Amino acid sequence: MARTTRFVILGGYLGAGKTTLATALARELSAEKGLSVAVITNDQGELLVDTEFVRNAGFDVRSVMGGCFCSDLPQFIKSARSLVSMERPDIIIVEPIGTSTNIISSVILPMRSMCPGEFSIAPLLIVLDGTRVDELLARPQGFGLGGGRMIPRNQVNEAEMVLISKSDLLDSGTVDRVRERLRSEVPDAEVVALSSRTGAGMSEIVRVILSERESTKVREAEDGRLFATERADLGWYNANAAFDAKERSDMYAFITAIMRKVSERFDSDRIAHVKVLIESDSIAMKMSLVGRSLQTDGVRGGRYLTGRGKVVLNARVQGTPQELREALSAAIRSAADEVGITLDQMSEASFQPKPERPTMILNMPAEEAVGPEIKKLIDKAKEDSLGGADVDRATLKKLLEIDPRSKEGEYLGQAARDISRKFFGNKVKIGSSIGIDISPCTMNCKFCSLGEEWGLVKGNNELPGDVIVGLVREVLSKGFFQVTLRTTEFYDLDRLCVLGRKIRTEVPGQYLLTANTGELTDEGALKLYRSGFTGVYHTVRLREGVDTPFDPEVRLASMRAVLASPLMLSVGVEPIGSEHTNDEILDRIELFRAIGPAQVCVMRRENVKGTPLAEHDEIDDYRLAQIVAVTRIAGGKRWGIASHPLTRKAVEWGANHVTVETGANPREDVHEVGVWKVCDHDAARQIVHDAGCEVSTVSDLRCQKCGRVLKAGDIAAV
Ligand code: SF4
Repeated sequence: MARTTRFVILGGYLGAGKTTLATALARELSAEKGLSVAVITNDQGELLVDTEFVRNAGFDVRSVMGGCFCSDLPQFIKSARSLVSMERPDIIIVEPIGTSTNIISSVILPMRSMCPGEFSIAPLLIVLDGTRVDELLARPQGFGLGGGRMIPRNQVNEAEMVLISKSDLLDSGTVDRVRERLRSEVPDAEVVALSSRTGAGMSEIVRVILSERESTKVREAEDGRLFATERADLGWYNANAAFDAKERSDMYAFITAIMRKVSERFDSDRIAHVKVLIESDSIAMKMSLVGRSLQTDGVRGGRYLTGRGKVVLNARVQGTPQELREALSAAIRSAADEVGITLDQMSEASFQPKPERPTMILNMPAEEAVGPEIKKLIDKAKEDSLGGADVDRATLKKLLEIDPRSKEGEYLGQAARDISRKFFGNKVKIGSSIGIDISPCTMNCKFCSLGEEWGLVKGNNELPGDVIVGLVREVLSKGFFQVTLRTTEFYDLDRLCVLGRKIRTEVPGQYLLTANTGELTDEGALKLYRSGFTGVYHTVRLREGVDTPFDPEVRLASMRAVLASPLMLSVGVEPIGSEHTNDEILDRIELFRAIGPAQVCVMRRENVKGTPLAEHDEIDDYRLAQIVAVTRIAGGKRWGIASHPLTRKAVEWGANHVTVETGANPREDVHEVGVWKVCDHDAARQIVHDAGCEVSTVSDLRCQKCGRVLKAGDIAAV
């Protein structure tokens, strides 16, 4: 086997027999070949028959709920990575939702781009119900409207191997006819006749899985709107109930009674798939109804049960959610009455599936879409950065000139992400910044809403010490461990030190406390350190001395004072607007490489109406993420990278620190305390997860100067 985890995607329409095959394959690969196998299932709603069935068969199984994998690719990748790190399976079998389409462009190619070398993705296997081929592959008569199906056709056309399931129910003439049809429908795919029941065709699938063949098919995504009508036609109903069989009861009779009632209520062409699983400590039984065809997928133990049990039902049937709920609920209840068992704790959900909105569509492999010259440039920059060499300014400038929305931009972002992953794990720290005072500031920086001349802030206001202590306590109680206190330029340093000592005394624990305040001398920096601060944010801003009245040398002197102290220095490429050139950005990056801060924040200017620089456009999320990526490549492991505001793209492209804020804020025209903004901590956590990263915990706390993992007491003792 290859060293990387083998990834086997088993697609196909509702009722094709994917779960039965996944379980049979897992059994064969583990029992016969001695390999460890895990399964990822995918669906909408809670508690699924498939997940329970695979778990019952003794395999590690993860579920990705809430729609197709493609709609939340980062979550899907996270599930796969978590399986790999915890269980180290040789093979992960992945079963997408039965209505998934465009798997190549929305799952396989993006995964190849986002996780290069991490997984070995096998050719795409599509299971096609051999007993329903004519019905499933009938050509639609209208534009996605009735008379045929668009979804199964799209799935089959994507296949690198089509598996004709239930072949034991077909005569040889029919199998030959289906093969012939598939040869013209999808000529580049292998076709295998399969029976999970007899084992026919299994060895051919296993051979492909165990080979080193990778998925290579490239297929342009079809417009998702084409499938909307079909999806909207289907109602989904999920139910699970505990029950008590006081006397010996026939579970086979229970399931068949449910299925009979469903068949009586709905025409066969309305039933896409109904699955029922019964389980208890002693038995498990799963049956499926597809159209009029009822089949037993698996049985463990006998058919009779006395005592407690559980029934799980998933139905995908044409109809409204309301209609399904009434019909299916009645079917389960009256079948239970028929066999004399008492249902309790029944929970149900009926809904229409959400539309698929893929996280990413790639119509060709990212590496192939990128021009060879630029690919070479990015690859070399990445290699140098990973190896600890400085990437030269000319290269960095070319990287800043790439259109961040292009394939080259994506390739650049992924290179930066790989560097970040190598040096900082896949972890992102969520910091909390508290603006502790507001007052009109006589410095009148042209981007700042606090500038006296703009008249946006009238009076003075300051957060009481106890409120600040409460906010710090709130941050730590949520599991975060970095707090910044932000002041206006002329906030009294001694008062800030008193506040630092108050916080350290009243909120014990291991956490980072950063000051973002006015200019500092060597003595001032030491005072902050002795008052419990662990770091300072200070920087030479873009167009310092032009858009601000500060002499850049004065700002630099403050930064040097911090560097001379035990404090960790964070700096920023900020506040970036559309008017700033690549050279101006590179001037800052080079300055930072020369002085060696622990962290660089890449910050967009948020235009505040009424401030002079609001006449220039803001940069968008892609440009911000691009500057993050280039700053990451320029810094390698020498610095962490914060991004502000918090955007998913910036995290995806290499930022490993983001911040939520409360209190006074020089970027906004509303000064509200107690409400966490750019977003709150929960939303920040979600964005980090959505970007496929984990949120750092205090156990990841490292000295930002030397990278040493800090132990309990290192910070508290400061
Ligand atoms: S950025 Fe700082 S120094 Fe400049 S106006 Fe705002 S508070 Fe004053």
